[in-house]
Amino acid sequence: MVPDTCSAAPDCTALADAILDTLVHRIGKDAQAALPHDWLAATIFTVRNDIIERWMVSSKAAHAAGAKKVYYLSLEFLIGRLLRDALGNLQRSDEVKAALAVHGVDLAELEEIEPDAALGNGGLGRLAACFMESLASLQLPAYGYGIRYMNGMFRQRIENGWQVELPENWLVHGNPWEFERRESAYFVGFGGEVVGHDDGTIHWKPAEAVEAIAVDTPVVGWRGKRVNTLRLWTARAFDPIRLDRFNAGDFSGALAGQIGAETLVRVLYPNDSTAAGQELRLRQEYFFSSASIQDIVRRHVQYFGDIKTLADKAAIQLNDTHPAVSVAELMRVLVDYHDLNFDEAWDIAKRTFGYTNHTLLPEALESWPLPLFEWLLPRHMQIVYAINAKLLREARAVEGIDDRAIAAISLIDEGGERRVRMANLAFVGSHSVNGVAALHTDLMKRTVFADLHTLYPTRINNKTNGITPRRWLQECNPGLTALIREAIGDAFLDDAEKLADLAPFAEDSWFREKFAAVKRANKAALADYIKTTLGLRIDPTAMFDVQIKRIHEYKRQLLGIIETVALYDQIRGHPERDWTPRVKLFAGKAASSYANAKLIIKLANDVARRINSDPSVGGLLKIAFLPNYNVSLAEKIVPAADLSEQISTAGMEASGTGNMKFALNGALTIGTLDGANIEIMERVGPENIVIFGMTADEVAAKRAAGYDPRATIEASGALNQALSAIASGVFSPDDPTRYKDLMNGLYDHDWFMVAADFDAYVAAQREVDTRWADTPGWEAAAVRNVARVGWFSSDRTIREYATDIWGVL
Ligand SMILES: *Cc1c(COP(=O)(O)O)cnc(C)c1O
Repeated sequence: MVPDTCSAAPDCTALADAILDTLVHRIGKDAQAALPHDWLAATIFTVRNDIIERWMVSSKAAHAAGAKKVYYLSLEFLIGRLLRDALGNLQRSDEVKAALAVHGVDLAELEEIEPDAALGNGGLGRLAACFMESLASLQLPAYGYGIRYMNGMFRQRIENGWQVELPENWLVHGNPWEFERRESAYFVGFGGEVVGHDDGTIHWKPAEAVEAIAVDTPVVGWRGKRVNTLRLWTARAFDPIRLDRFNAGDFSGALAGQIGAETLVRVLYPNDSTAAGQELRLRQEYFFSSASIQDIVRRHVQYFGDIKTLADKAAIQLNDTHPAVSVAELMRVLVDYHDLNFDEAWDIAKRTFGYTNHTLLPEALESWPLPLFEWLLPRHMQIVYAINAKLLREARAVEGIDDRAIAAISLIDEGGERRVRMANLAFVGSHSVNGVAALHTDLMKRTVFADLHTLYPTRINNKTNGITPRRWLQECNPGLTALIREAIGDAFLDDAEKLADLAPFAEDSWFREKFAAVKRANKAALADYIKTTLGLRIDPTAMFDVQIKRIHEYKRQLLGIIETVALYDQIRGHPERDWTPRVKLFAGKAASSYANAKLIIKLANDVARRINSDPSVGGLLKIAFLPNYNVSLAEKIVPAADLSEQISTAGMEASGTGNMKFALNGALTIGTLDGANIEIMERVGPENIVIFGMTADEVAAKRAAGYDPRATIEASGALNQALSAIASGVFSPDDPTRYKDLMNGLYDHDWFMVAADFDAYVAAQREVDTRWADTPGWEAAAVRNVARVGWFSSDRTIREYATDIWGVL
């Protein structure tokens, strides 16, 4: 039982007093005047004291042990809210809840108003956040490095069915979690020229510069055993106000430097699966890479004295190619400032860096126009040329290598406008290059990196992604967590693979009923939320069929929507059949420039409006598009899901992590053999998952053979009818041609194989209906999913990185 007064929690009177004292002396309000935000800040400031003390102990212990440190460089950290996570990991939730209750304040309400820190777009950023939590939980000394964006991922509103992007403002009330470290500031230059001195040394003289300032957030591990640092950089002009200009009456000129610096950290690029090609993006990448490398080198020299031991004491992981310029930056620091010769420096760099690839989509592979790169980073351009010369020399020495392979290996893309290939730079600058699921790693070897893999056959390795079970089970699903503890004890809290002990309970009808009751309560809570936010009433006993993720054509929300339209048609045609009542839930943001993705959101909303108001389908089918998908919304939806939609075109989803969250919370997956779905199937067993559609090899073969989507569509009555209905304006009577081009695109190209997989998907959905009708069978399968996916804990993933790549375990 959760105590709600202090009498049940011994330390809570002192804590209640401490929170009130913080409110008065730090926030400057008394209990009568305080608003919920004031109580939230006072609560965080108070529990923070505990965290700070552990943080200092953690740093000192790592220093005293001379431990090797892990540095995780990522342009995105999708961390979400921190209070519940910190209290959960410190196991102080009950105590803080009781202390706040003394003041008539509800902890749950405070947790709900904490801003959701959305410094990332989707899976890649959320992975970085799960990794930071697991690093601390495994008690590994680690720093995350990124950018403290003033505005994170945009807020999404749905107006008349369309996505509207509003600026996100997570810092409006200040951020009680962060510590600005004015003493940790670095010079970061851009442009200018490279000068050679008579003594042979080379120096870069930038034309512009900003100061990077560290802002630290503590990352609390499970049971509070270690607190690591997430160090996000903000930018400041060296000379914030040019007094010469100010005094001459040029007020905007006087502030131009500061405005330029702020621009660097103002906004997260709202993109996913597409490279952002703008100059500002390259500036952001270099800004945070340079500050991070300088900080890492400074810390190493301060602790260990000798730059030559860097690789023994520091492991730097590049989360995708966004920080790949770090390879050239470290070389510059080692050669230009620490006087190492090029080969020595190169050896250190390679032993220090590891690179994680996240995508094979050609449109997402970063490359920079050579003139832009050279103009902004002239010294780095020279270093890239020098690395390339060495690389191509090595490659040409290999027997049987041809010009095509040399061209593919080169750091410079010479086809058309010359470009610097960041993935090749990251690959050759690292001793380890990993994919994020077994299939993805295999495809890396066979596609983008085929020639580099031939040259360096031991470099590519796999590290299947994971999720932290603290946030994605314990915190988001306290009901299920309590039930599992009742059944198998607490060992799974420290080792998610111990969830395996739950497997026999799949056969226990007493347990299954309790398990179903937890799911029903979670669904009722989500139904309430949907009623409040959308005014839509849904039936918590219906199947909750969920597709939530970034909106992208490869993720195939369109397949889900078209199948919904076909199902609607079927129900209307045969109302007498025994249909499974379903609620189809969609959520996700579309990149602001991605027109088709935005139109898919509008289609989901148009289809929802029509179907939800059609009395002829009765309660059998309801559709909801929940606005503003983010970590906090995922935490509400995932525990309430029955069916997890993981239906990307095979070969295109590198791993997925949403798939893992759902399985861990007892949803069955309907999915393609893509990314980590394959490994989920291997672990839960093919009888506890519904797999459909083409394999990655079949997709590739079909494309190569010349796929004719029109013939496929015309051969499928249900598909043809659904597409015609959408194209002819059945769901958009106010603008009957709204979806004409989107549908025609399927007939003409259908790159993502929506039509080719459609019939298999429909058959899989009817198989889902059959399984759902067998309630004990469904529930047993759901329990087996929970029991068998402990391996997808990010603790396991981090243990593998630590052992195989970083050498810290
Ligand atoms: C887990 C998560 C993702 C990744 O979801 P996928 O289904 O793997 O694409 C994206 N956004 C948020 C907010 C998440 O929590």
